[in-house]
Amino acid sequence: MHVDRNEFHPLEVDRIREDFPIFAGDSPIAYLDSAASSQTARCVLEAMDGYYESYRSNIHRGIYHISEEATAAYEDARQKIARFISARRASQVVFTRNTTESINLVAHSWGNANIGRDDEILLTVMEHHSNLVPWQLLAERTGATLRFIEVTDEGLLQLDDLDQLLTERTKLVAITHVSNVLGTINPVWEITAAAHSVGATVLIDAAQSVPHLPVDAQALDCDFLAFSGHKMCGPTGVGVLYGKRELLEEMPPFLGGGSMIRAVQRERSTYADVPARFEAGTPAIAEAIGLGHAVDYLEKIGLDAVHAHEQQIIDYAHQKLSEIDGITIYGPKPRMKAGVITFNLEGIHPHDLAGVLDTTGVAVRAGHHCAQPLMQHYGVIATARASFYLYNTMEDVDRLYDGALKAQNLLARRQG
Ligand code: PMP
Repeated sequence: MHVDRNEFHPLEVDRIREDFPIFAGDSPIAYLDSAASSQTARCVLEAMDGYYESYRSNIHRGIYHISEEATAAYEDARQKIARFISARRASQVVFTRNTTESINLVAHSWGNANIGRDDEILLTVMEHHSNLVPWQLLAERTGATLRFIEVTDEGLLQLDDLDQLLTERTKLVAITHVSNVLGTINPVWEITAAAHSVGATVLIDAAQSVPHLPVDAQALDCDFLAFSGHKMCGPTGVGVLYGKRELLEEMPPFLGGGSMIRAVQRERSTYADVPARFEAGTPAIAEAIGLGHAVDYLEKIGLDAVHAHEQQIIDYAHQKLSEIDGITIYGPKPRMKAGVITFNLEGIHPHDLAGVLDTTGVAVRAGHHCAQPLMQHYGVIATARASFYLYNTMEDVDRLYDGALKAQNLLARRQG
């Protein structure tokens, strides 16, 4: 089938690309790995430079003006993030290092206090290892059992089984909002409502949703939500745990040290209120401030517009890549997913494909994508994955297509 990419009209992408220094110059990279880590917007870099150049100091303790300025900027970022995900209060936003740390915080603090040996934790087969291994460790500590929602061959959750899987033993349901491998957008609202009907607590891994879709934590009614700054035009080293206030308030600390205490004696201590209770030590101050500016940037463009743009690109990518002989594309139809396309080319290892693509300036990820149980479900060891964001263009898809054909020619010739 002939595909005309001019049928699609990406939204002001040329202007958006000017906001990302990495795309300056005559032969910019076709960066198709934003699901691993996005590029950083210039306004984020400037905000971080502003902190380092003008008011760098520690927060919450200094009685001098630049420390007060840093504290205000850090707390302002918390407010912005709370508004971005529609949290009721800023104190429900805990700064962590990343999604992984947010989930581990819940697994230790909430999990140790609430999970016992007769309890069950319900996950899905499409979880990133970050939302699997912490629960395996908790199950090892407590004797609890892990159960799994299966994945259909189309890459959707097998929700017909949900009624049998959710019982009065289910204490926690931990699920990804958007699969980092397949791009599947899961119906997390429905799953959360079903989980709550048996009294289970719900954690949503929003690492791949908060950067790409409008996410309203109150409307989802989830108990915990975890995401990373580096996947949403922000810096590395800062992530977020959102939690319902009553849950966070009853949770014991995760890490101990400075900033998280109320009073310390030789033998014991009392702890600060949330969110400080969960932010031991000096946090990633510049990074949190940078993330606040990333949120401003994304809000200005609008998450609906970002999602619509990715839908157009993913439609085009599906049509275009489907023309390639010997391609297998994993996951659901474009309309049911975010901007991720995962595939294999017959007879070509995805690492070799990624290597050839790199020689043409196209960056994709190849491997198991930290989702080995999902790879096992599909009976593959690895796949290639292209993931798109607000700065990607239809030309990027064309370059991916051309590079894939080049890989087929080169590697077939080598084998022949
Ligand atoms: N969950 C999902 C769905 C992800 O895609 C990722 C990152 N690939 C993570 C969790 C982990 O994020 P981080 O490495 O920032 O902790």
